[in-house]
Amino acid sequence: MLNAKIPVGDIDKKWEEYKGHCKLVNPTNKRKFEIIVIGTGLAGASAAASLGELGYKVKAFCFQDSPRRAHSIAAQGGINAAKNYQNDGDSVFRLFYDTIKGGDYRAREANVHRLAELSVKIIDQCVAQGVPFAREYGGLLSNRSFGGTQVQRTFYAAGQTGQQLLLGAYQALERQVALGNVEMFSRHEMLDVVVHEGTTKGIIARNLITGQIERHFGHAVLMCSGGYGNVFYLSTNAMGSNVSAAWKAHKKGAFFANPCFTQIHPTCIPVSGDHQSKLTLMSESLRNDGRIWVPKQKDDPRKPQDIPEAERDYYLERRYPAFGNLVPRDVASRAAKERCDEGFGVGSSKMAVYLDFQEAILRYGKIESSKQGNHSPDKDTQLKLGKQVVKEKYGNLFDMYEKITGENPYEMPMRIYPAVHYTMGGLWVDYELQTTLPGLFALGEANFSDHGANRLGASALMQGLADGYFVIPYTLGNCIADKLSEKPLSINHDAFVKAEEGVHERLDKLLAIKGTESVESFHKRLGKIMWDFCGMGRNKAGLEKAITDIQKLKVEFWTNVKVLGSKFEFNPELDKAGRVADFIELGELMCKDALHRNESCGGHFREEFQTPEGEALRHDNEFMYVAAWEHAEKDWNLHKESLNYEVIKPTQRNYK
Ligand SMILES: Cc1cc2nc3c(=O)[nH]c(=O)nc-3n(C[C@H](O)[C@H](O)[C@H](O)COP(=O)(O)OP(=O)(O)OC[C@H]3O[C@@H](n4cnc5c(N)ncnc54)[C@H](O)[C@@H]3O)c2cc1C
Repeated sequence: MLNAKIPVGDIDKKWEEYKGHCKLVNPTNKRKFEIIVIGTGLAGASAAASLGELGYKVKAFCFQDSPRRAHSIAAQGGINAAKNYQNDGDSVFRLFYDTIKGGDYRAREANVHRLAELSVKIIDQCVAQGVPFAREYGGLLSNRSFGGTQVQRTFYAAGQTGQQLLLGAYQALERQVALGNVEMFSRHEMLDVVVHEGTTKGIIARNLITGQIERHFGHAVLMCSGGYGNVFYLSTNAMGSNVSAAWKAHKKGAFFANPCFTQIHPTCIPVSGDHQSKLTLMSESLRNDGRIWVPKQKDDPRKPQDIPEAERDYYLERRYPAFGNLVPRDVASRAAKERCDEGFGVGSSKMAVYLDFQEAILRYGKIESSKQGNHSPDKDTQLKLGKQVVKEKYGNLFDMYEKITGENPYEMPMRIYPAVHYTMGGLWVDYELQTTLPGLFALGEANFSDHGANRLGASALMQGLADGYFVIPYTLGNCIADKLSEKPLSINHDAFVKAEEGVHERLDKLLAIKGTESVESFHKRLGKIMWDFCGMGRNKAGLEKAITDIQKLKVEFWTNVKVLGSKFEFNPELDKAGRVADFIELGELMCKDALHRNESCGGHFREEFQTPEGEALRHDNEFMYVAAWEHAEKDWNLHKESLNYEVIKPTQRNYK
């Protein structure tokens, strides 16, 4: 069994206790430590800025041309915090409880409680940085609801929350760059972790413009490299998001936890054809006001506006009256699939459901009209005023929808369908965010830690920033304080030389194949296998087939992939080839993980294990653990971290 190093004591005292007793590194000694941070999204930028501010010597890496182009910039809807500004019953405990329940009781209690505690500090930190959160008329910060909760605890900046938060973290990072505490390596890709005597000593990186390979020493390496949803080819993630950094760490000894736990987001623009390489999210915030429905009649040929109220099935409100349209993502996604599979889908593909704002527009219109002294407005006035309110709240999302689909969502409902969005799995970390490879830490979406089998909306930004601003500054010090007397390993040491040779060998191998099939084509084929057999619904036979298919695909890839150009130049095709090769290996592990977990929980829905009502059926007696996979020569070894619920009693999730 893996030891998560959870501090003893009451759940609400653990973090205070830890901070009170952990080892510290004094200010002058911090300068003697070199820390490498891979990634400059919310997790990496906040970590690098905080560690630079503390006085550590930091090197930060990202593959984009600027740290502020990390995928975090795409986050739309918001960030959770238990501030209870709305006076609607929120508290640290309730955020903790909602997150554990939302994750279907597959997350670690101690980490989640710490996250809920830290959530309130994040908002203060970001406000101090000047992040322009939406405000109420009176000046207080505004909130909205996200799925899986009955309170309003989501802070937001229109539909660009990730962008504004990242600009805040980026400014803090750039300040440290200017002060010389952080050295920034944009357009660099980490291609291996250097390990010596069982401990992390640095990385091998490639300058993506020149192709030069570089060696960098670090007393510790922080993996903040994001999630791996792009293993499915089509996802809402940025095109560049990939698993390679985490995968290299995995192959050097870091266990990979719960790889099959994938989040399928219910409100995305549906796939429209074979030409697509990207899917677009319509933020969950839209479910605050949008009502989801399908016609009661199968294959209904009418336009949505022509279908009367009585002939519409608001299936989420019907099935889950207590949470309605704001059930968690896994539940909403499965319900949409179920309706479409039963023949009630809409649009030309029939694989979509409606997200309708008409009622909200009329409701807001009535309120606005009342404010103007008109208490019985006609419908046109209501529509006009209501559209203004909806525009203020969601204007950029509506514009994006119209640009992509050519339809005006103020006039007719959006058509939406679930799509791959987030990965709860990732590198296994203990309470200190350290992986099983000493000296290697993982933060943000790259780790597995806080969301169990299903993440609640607006909790990823919260986790990334909690990890970077508030957790790692303490836990890193505690883990490296004793290394003060250790000399930095020379980058001419054999460990660096061998790691660099390995990187060259692999690049040469990819270039030497000179096959006939493009990297893109292999990625697309992998994505199809993953979506068909390890997507929203999974079963034993399908997963077994997927594993065999992926193994064959891997052989084909390494004998027939076509990568042009050379390694000492700007060569995005070569970069992508390496990433797809890693995705193929990860895909196999995801299917193996999904196959071994003979239960359904959260986003992991094994069709064999469901309640009579079609909900996920957990098997707590057998699977109340984190599955942490160790990479071995031929296969993977399974290790377990058992999950002990001391505060919350696991039950069948109920959103009715
Ligand atoms: C469309 C969309 C909307 C979202 N909206 C929300 C929301 O409203 N609220 C919410 O809480 N969550 C949201 N999420 C989820 C959230 O955005 C992400 O989980 C989060 O931003 C991840 O942050 P991160 O710092 O862990 O990683 P990322 O932001 O993905 O950053 C990864 C970094 O790692 C670097 N990197 C990766 N590999 C390497 C390598 N090999 N070498 C060097 N650098 C490397 C990249 O360059 C990048 O800088 C959304 C996600 C999507 C897709």
